[in-house]
Amino acid sequence: MNLLDPEIWAGKIFNGGWVPAGQGPLDVIEPATRKVLTVVGLASVDDANSAVREAAHAQKEWAASKPEYRAAILRRAGDLWNAHEAELSQWIIRETGAIAAKAGLEMHMAAEICFASAALPEHVIGSVLPSNNDHWSFSRRRPAGVVSVIAPFNFPLILSIRSVAPALALGNAVVLKPDPRTPVSGGFAIARIFEEAGLPQGLFHVLPGGADVGAAVTIAPEVSVVSFTGSTEAGRKVGEMASRHLKRVHLELGGKNSLIVLPGADIAKAASAAAFGCFLHQGQICMATGRVIVHESLYDEFLTALGDKASHLPVGNPATEQVALGPIIDEKQLLRMDGIVKSSVEAGATLVAGGSYDELFYRPTVLANVTEDMQAYTEEIFGPVATVFRYSTNAEAIALASDTDYGLSVGILGDVGLAMQIADAVPSGLVHINEQTVGDEPNIPFGGVGASGNGSRFGGAEANIEAFTETQWLTVRSEIAPYPF
Ligand code: NAD
Repeated sequence: MNLLDPEIWAGKIFNGGWVPAGQGPLDVIEPATRKVLTVVGLASVDDANSAVREAAHAQKEWAASKPEYRAAILRRAGDLWNAHEAELSQWIIRETGAIAAKAGLEMHMAAEICFASAALPEHVIGSVLPSNNDHWSFSRRRPAGVVSVIAPFNFPLILSIRSVAPALALGNAVVLKPDPRTPVSGGFAIARIFEEAGLPQGLFHVLPGGADVGAAVTIAPEVSVVSFTGSTEAGRKVGEMASRHLKRVHLELGGKNSLIVLPGADIAKAASAAAFGCFLHQGQICMATGRVIVHESLYDEFLTALGDKASHLPVGNPATEQVALGPIIDEKQLLRMDGIVKSSVEAGATLVAGGSYDELFYRPTVLANVTEDMQAYTEEIFGPVATVFRYSTNAEAIALASDTDYGLSVGILGDVGLAMQIADAVPSGLVHINEQTVGDEPNIPFGGVGASGNGSRFGGAEANIEAFTETQWLTVRSEIAPYPF
């Protein structure tokens, strides 16, 4: 039996059941064919306001429910991701323009995040505090209440479920606003899984919508915590709104991530790592390798190897062909990133490979001789573009990798001793030695620093409990305390 039937969501949003959307139907375009893939509903601000009210109402009973009851629902959700892998992967492939391996990764992570979250309701959530007063003193974590999750288009399933699952498991209700370009894999698939898993009605809402709905679910008085993943520009706005309304906000934003190739590194392996880091999912990943910083002793040979690889990677429709790269999500994103490539080449950068496109299919691109004044140096490109730099000393490599406002991920290939010196010096939320920059696992505390986010973390019990609960100090005396008046 299919889990996803487009009939159920035509013109609709999910609020525990499927209801007509305030702003009517919205076409979802398959980027590879540029045809309508499905029709969903576009939520309105009124939809958002009624969703948070319902969520706040449903949350009370859910928070009071037995831990084993919540855990069982999360476990069933994990099983359902696995049982429907083939069907749901196809939606990720077609809706996001992903190759099968990327879709498989999203599905695997979704299942594992649900299983990991199933352990949260029974996790230790407090401590006994020594006190000099005549009472017992405890610190305990309680559900935050209603959590809003705002997610982007690129890895829509992982970037939604990584907040939705732990937040629900810890006794919260969740209102999810997926990107309107990926409302099925980033929203309705999750709604269907939790519907089938037996989640009580009203606890989980999916509102495909734009910035207006994102703002509404940020400032609504019923919402206590906002979990935002997206661009630094939009993140700043959400951060400002949330702070003005005194909400806790977790911001997971963009990146300009470096991969450093140390002297003596294996060139073929390093070129493969760089190609993967730069070109996976067409470079539309916050952790994508933005700068490849190569020791001068390897630079020429490495540049040739990466250029060759880029020229031979197949690009096409991942739903019908065996390809390494699919399409860019839409024309706006493609023209933006192509503009960065063109302006950098006009300013003197060398185009080693790629730099051209058909429809939404952009060829893997390698740029050399990029300088500090070029957009390709300063901006997150969010497309399949490698910029390659030469360095001679470790200090230079550290300076180049650190010369950005972002601080999400750094990869270092080669000698582990040298690599550790760099790991100690770079301001980055994630560092991978002998791996490229893209990586995530269900139990790791994921997050960036600087313009990559406000240092919040998702993943693993400790980070998730910190992210989605509030602390209560609780004291208990055996009798009413005496007071001087
Ligand atoms: P985006 O910021 O435009 O959109 C992300 C989400 O925010 C969407 O749901 C969008 O509708 C919503 N949104 C946009 N403006 C808003 C506003 N003013 N108020 C409330 N909501 C608003 O991002 P995008 O271009 O679609 O996604 C790509 C960006 O996301 C890149 O910068 C990428 O690096 C970043 N990203 C970060 C991570 C991470 O974990 N750090 C992961 C993936 C993507």
